Amino acid sequence: VKKKGGQYEKQARPIKQAAVLGAGIMGGGIAYQSASKGTPILMKDIKDDALALGLKEARKLFAKQAERGKLSTEQMAEKLANIRPTLSYGDFGHVDLVVEAVVENPKVKGAVLSEVEGLVGEDTILTSNTSTISIDRLAENLTRPENFCGMHFFNPVHRMPLVEVIRGEKTSDAAVAATVAYARAMGKTPIVVNDCPGFLVNRVLFPYFGGFSQLVEQGADFQHVDRVMEKFGWPMGPAYLLDVVGMDTAVHAGEVMAEGFPERMGGMGGGGTKSAIQVMFENERLGQKNAKGFYAYE
Ligand code: NAD
Repeated sequence: VKKKGGQYEKQARPIKQAAVLGAGIMGGGIAYQSASKGTPILMKDIKDDALALGLKEARKLFAKQAERGKLSTEQMAEKLANIRPTLSYGDFGHVDLVVEAVVENPKVKGAVLSEVEGLVGEDTILTSNTSTISIDRLAENLTRPENFCGMHFFNPVHRMPLVEVIRGEKTSDAAVAATVAYARAMGKTPIVVNDCPGFLVNRVLFPYFGGFSQLVEQGADFQHVDRVMEKFGWPMGPAYLLDVVGMDTAVHAGEVMAEGFPERMGGMGGGGTKSAIQVMFENERLGQKNAKGFYAYE
């Protein structure tokens, strides 16, 4: 691999068959995006209803394109057929790249990654869509850490152009190159970043969530804060964005950030008092995924 002006070029292993672990908000979005741009993808979950929901969302997005005249009915069916939902690892022996997108928990992710590593080919690239957990930490139980890196998409996947490709201490140039090339093939803009909790974007975003949470804890009206931040020029305010992200994911990711940067992000979890975001989570106000968060959804 030649590195030129920070770019990773050529010699990337072509990704002809991908797989995603988890069919939730992110896994479903990643499957849609890969399928839409022509790379077949296996979508594995442990729950049948999660697979059904992931497929339903993908179908909805393809149907929107068809309505706008961008896809014919046949093309839509063809693209949808690029997503193969599964509850088993049966076909993982032929996969070129795996994106792990299960819950934001280091133990669960570590176990899932080491399980899948034993089932894929020796050269298969393993990636994680973790929001915050250090890639070196996730690589600890892998026997081929050189084949592993972060591939961090943003929500909603079909609309957000950026993908952070996170290079761990042992990640090979070949793994980075293949992941960058796959992100580009998916129509995304990859950037290669160093490893640390939260990488680049979430190191900026989580202190912002922490600041919002403290304001609410001190009595601020969340809708007012949202309106002010929109007037400030942000496309959406923090309460609405937290509903999009999911309170469970925000709490788990916040704990990782608080552990990584206690002096800056102690307010995000792990400290003595509960943050407003934790209180929402404990009251099962998860956001758009269960139709009630800061706001209510149909
Ligand atoms: P989600 O709760 O919507 O989906 C997680 C899915 O993983 C569920 O369907 C669950 O059944 C499945 N799962 C759990 N254990 C599994 C296993 N062993 N094998 C296969 N599937 C399993 O969560 P999400 O919001 O899609 O987040 C997934 C990952 O993406 C997390 O690491 C999160 O931090 C990251 N992420 C989330 C966002 C966001 O805005 N929500 C953005 C970027 C990255």
